[in-house]
Amino acid sequence: MKGPSIGFRLSAWYFAVFTCGLAAFGITSWFGMRASVFHAIDDELRDRVRGVSQFMENQISALSLPEIRDEFREHSVLGPGGDLFQVCDDQGQWLYRSVPLENANVAIALPASLPSPQFQDLRVEHHWLRFYSQRIVVNGQSYTVQVASLMNETYEALERFRLMLLLAAPLLLILASVGGYWLSSRALAPVDGISQAAQRISIENLDDRLNVPETGDQLQRLSETLNAMLSRLAMSVRQMKQFTADASHELRAPVSLIRTTAEVAVQKRDRPASEYLEALDEILQESERTSQVVDSLMLLARADSGKVAAEFSAADMCAIVRGAAEQGEKLLRLRGLQFAAGVPNAPIWIQADADALRRAFLILIDNAAKYTPRAGTVTVALEARDGVAFASVSDTGIGIAEEDVGHIFDRFWRADKARSREQGGAGLGLSIAKWIVKMHNGSIGVESKLGEGSRFWIRVPLDHV
Ligand code: ADP
Repeated sequence: MKGPSIGFRLSAWYFAVFTCGLAAFGITSWFGMRASVFHAIDDELRDRVRGVSQFMENQISALSLPEIRDEFREHSVLGPGGDLFQVCDDQGQWLYRSVPLENANVAIALPASLPSPQFQDLRVEHHWLRFYSQRIVVNGQSYTVQVASLMNETYEALERFRLMLLLAAPLLLILASVGGYWLSSRALAPVDGISQAAQRISIENLDDRLNVPETGDQLQRLSETLNAMLSRLAMSVRQMKQFTADASHELRAPVSLIRTTAEVAVQKRDRPASEYLEALDEILQESERTSQVVDSLMLLARADSGKVAAEFSAADMCAIVRGAAEQGEKLLRLRGLQFAAGVPNAPIWIQADADALRRAFLILIDNAAKYTPRAGTVTVALEARDGVAFASVSDTGIGIAEEDVGHIFDRFWRADKARSREQGGAGLGLSIAKWIVKMHNGSIGVESKLGEGSRFWIRVPLDHV
């Protein structure tokens, strides 16, 4: 199922986040603006009440009521906020009442019912007014002073600000989303290029590579990573092809030998029984060799697919090496070789699949037997040092040329094909040994000199538990 493109999803996310951000910004600015405007207005209203209160404190004992009214009138016309205030005493008697408030008959709370200052927003004759009423005490007498501010312009300004926000927000949103979509599409366009180029690569043209943009960013890294992956794949496919070719070649030779031997045997019927026996013996030997190759191939194939279930447990490396040496010794003696084993008596504990590791040692001993001429010596040694169990199989055999040392662990590789085949080898033994050692987190290697002999070694980490 084809989902929406990354560009679209990015833009959608961008749109959603931007919308939330813009909404939060708009709401905060509007309320912030409103609060600050009201704060200023309320401060001014409080100042005006303070002014009235001071005036009354100074003048009330010196002036008569009509004089006070005149003074208030004068005072209020000149003062900020204009002629919008009224004062009454605790009997409800007006000390002063400005004309607009009197005309509109704006009610006032008596001082007794006004324990704390009070703000009120009222609509008075098509005007919005904000009232502030406060109880004051002058010369022991309580009064209510109520001042008001005309809010029409303030509300209009706030409304204009609100409209501006409401109009600007969608415009900004549209612009930002289109911009975001354009940007993300531009940024992701090379990804389409990479995926199209990658789609063109198949097993036939695994050596083709993607163009790497020199941008120093993720896209460059992506292309380089894909190219590196293609190189690894190409290498694996090459190895697989080589393996298949080598395996079929390896199997074809004995099968055709078996076939030829059988054909020759059946062609001439009146042969002595010994010749039939000889032919059958040859067929048997080749069949055994073939099934050995098939077994090795199957083991390596299972190893490659990770299907070999190794059973690891604490094992004594001395016992493993000793077991392999005992098994190999018979073969070595049969071939007329000297054998020496230096295996300590104290156990050397490792985590191992003992059977598998024994098999790896047997491969090394078997090779030593195969590639060491009669009267030569094969030595097996084992010691524990620097946290590893170090075992070696040395021989005084034909040795390995320096240029061949790097290949001997490759599958089907043999220094001397004819000789190795004659000895029954298919070039798989060391590949199997290497895989077994790797499975044990160990390492395997060789030191060798052509014509003088070889020393194969295996290192396996000690079990520290
Ligand atoms: P093979 O079945 O041919 O012995 P291996 O994988 O065991 O296959 O060994 C690969 C090749 O390495 C051998 O064909 C041989 O050329 C070389 N080799 C292995 N062990 C020795 C050794 N002890 N001395 C000399 N050459 C060896």
